[in-house]
Amino acid sequence: MRFRLFLLLAVGSTVLLFRCAFAQDEDFSKTELRVTKVAGSVYMLDAAKGDAGGNIAASVGDDGIVIVDDQYAPLADKIRAALKSVTDKPVRFVINTHYHGDHTGGNAIFQKEAPVIAQDNVRKRLEQGGKAGNGGSVSMDNKPAVKGALPIITFEHDVTVHLNGEDIRALHFPAGHTDGDSVIYFPQSNVVHMGDDFVTYGFPFIDVTSGGSIDGMIDGVEKAIAQLPPDVKVIPGHGPVSNLDDVRAYVKMLKETRDVVEKALKKHKTLDQMKQEKILEPWKKYSGDFISSDAFIETLYNSLTGQKTGKFIQHN
Ligand SMILES: [Zn+2]
Repeated sequence: MRFRLFLLLAVGSTVLLFRCAFAQDEDFSKTELRVTKVAGSVYMLDAAKGDAGGNIAASVGDDGIVIVDDQYAPLADKIRAALKSVTDKPVRFVINTHYHGDHTGGNAIFQKEAPVIAQDNVRKRLEQGGKAGNGGSVSMDNKPAVKGALPIITFEHDVTVHLNGEDIRALHFPAGHTDGDSVIYFPQSNVVHMGDDFVTYGFPFIDVTSGGSIDGMIDGVEKAIAQLPPDVKVIPGHGPVSNLDDVRAYVKMLKETRDVVEKALKKHKTLDQMKQEKILEPWKKYSGDFISSDAFIETLYNSLTGQKTGKFIQHN
């Protein structure tokens, strides 16, 4: 479970200490990365064996390489080796989909060779450190990142990188998985990297404590579906390459589970009652080690009742 690793690297909470016991056998030296061609000039890097962080997208061409996310620092050499199997060209830019350590852990290393680009809030949260979590049982403390890990180039709403004949566009989702998410679209190759706003491991982690929200996630993903070509290849934050039908099924689940919790709130049910009554039972196939049904009830409850410390940012 790659998420045990995320929790292992985030220091401090009760959940973490509990999970550390599980995570003792985690070892990056056993991780094997693989490179898969997705479409056009875009490749995906993920773990063939062992644990890795979030999926990396790589645009490869005459101008060099643009990578989206950089997993964990100890995997940097393996990431380089994997990229070398495709091209000898250098990494020119790194784009972060959001601030979590399993997507930005290699920033300080790669930024020695290529600038990191991210939404303003990614830099802020990396710089400040602080809590991540669902406002309930899922909680992690993030230490402030070293200076070299902070994105040198930041943007508020969107940015485009013109390399390899591609107009690589990063577009901010204001309040989905966190408040600094970007979806990265490669129009010429017809590939999109959704960051952790779309994952295939079951109920998603919504970092309510870092400005994420269920409504923002639904809104962002629905807008993406409406704008993307029907046959676009979708790289999730975690999991295998998917298509828009997979994303539609995911957003349907998000909306249905959200509405069930909202209905229970209207009946003045408490969080404990919702858990006892197993109100997400019909979606139990999405319940996982990282985000169980109970943890997702907490997420939806906290998101819908506004019990969060993160601030929402609205773009027109
Ligand atoms: Zn994440």
